[in-house]
Amino acid sequence: MARKQRFRCPHCGHFFQVSEFSIALRPHLGGRGVYLRCPDCHTANWMLPAPPLFP
Ligand SMILES: [Zn+2]
Repeated sequence: MARKQRFRCPHCGHFFQVSEFSIALRPHLGGRGVYLRCPDCHTANWMLPAPPLFP
């Protein structure tokens, strides 16, 4: 039942979701971004949280 946060890859534009538990384990950029690896293009980058699809 972990909550998820959406991110958008700045490299390929792919949207993906990461559980908040996983996000907590990743390096953070002052709360404005999280260092993640895109599951689509496998590029590691600082990802900014994206707004939900259905707010
Ligand atoms: Zn990507």
